[in-house]
Amino acid sequence: MDVILLGTGSPIPSPHRAGPATLVKAGGVNLLADCGRGVVMRLAAVGVGPAAISAVLLTHMHSDHITDLNDIITTHWVMNTAPQPLKVFGPKGAEALVEATLAMLAFDVKYRIDHHADLNAGPVVETTELEPGDSFSVSDCAITAYQTDHSPVFPTLGYRIEHAGGVVALAGDTVPCAGLDALCKDADVYVQTVIRDDLVRRVPLQRLQDILDYHSTVEQAAQTAERAGVRTLLMTHYVPNLIPGQEEVWREIARPHFNGEIVLGDDLISVSVAAKA
Ligand SMILES: [Zn+2]
Ligand SMILES: [Zn+2]
Repeated sequence: MDVILLGTGSPIPSPHRAGPATLVKAGGVNLLADCGRGVVMRLAAVGVGPAAISAVLLTHMHSDHITDLNDIITTHWVMNTAPQPLKVFGPKGAEALVEATLAMLAFDVKYRIDHHADLNAGPVVETTELEPGDSFSVSDCAITAYQTDHSPVFPTLGYRIEHAGGVVALAGDTVPCAGLDALCKDADVYVQTVIRDDLVRRVPLQRLQDILDYHSTVEQAAQTAERAGVRTLLMTHYVPNLIPGQEEVWREIARPHFNGEIVLGDDLISVSVAAKA
């Protein structure tokens, strides 16, 4: 498996960081976790067209994680020469989100059907709402949804992906919790969205201070990784935006709490998991 951070940004605009989205390539399968700002551009950078997305896994419905779902739906639809449903998995509310997104796209869908003789139907999205503990397969990838804690945002899910003996834990936005520990147990790669609370606390804006109570700090991500026996901690969704050249500063904050490998950096940074089976 390859885990590729398509976007390492957050709602805070950055010219260098796309919004949160992570690609897991496993065999011939392309699993896209979240659809943040610029996701289709970043997919193009790694040679994966929207038509090649096997499934979309949504962690929660915060705008930074879903803002370009509409672009995935549209490009998956128009770039597939044969009609092919887009599979979307997410927590309760995902169906309403997809319906609303399709409603937003209705003008475009009509224009394209009217214009292209070989396009006779709109995008088909197969949405599955999951509860914590639900498991499903996409080709030979086994995926299980876990409860995370991003309260007051509810519900939120993390995804454990198992393929060829390897395990990837995609946590999304969450503070440490029992569900997160179970999700990450003995994972090869644990992807965690993080904030630097030491930097956020210095900004005299209440709206920024509000985010402190529902994200893992860099230290907490490292502590979760250590507790769960993770091999590699892959940090993303840097708040505030990670300034290039400051990677080592972030790594040093995590280091005392975790003995494994710590990876962070620019968009498109990736970690490979060797097949064990
Ligand atoms: Zn969130
Ligand atoms: Zn977020």
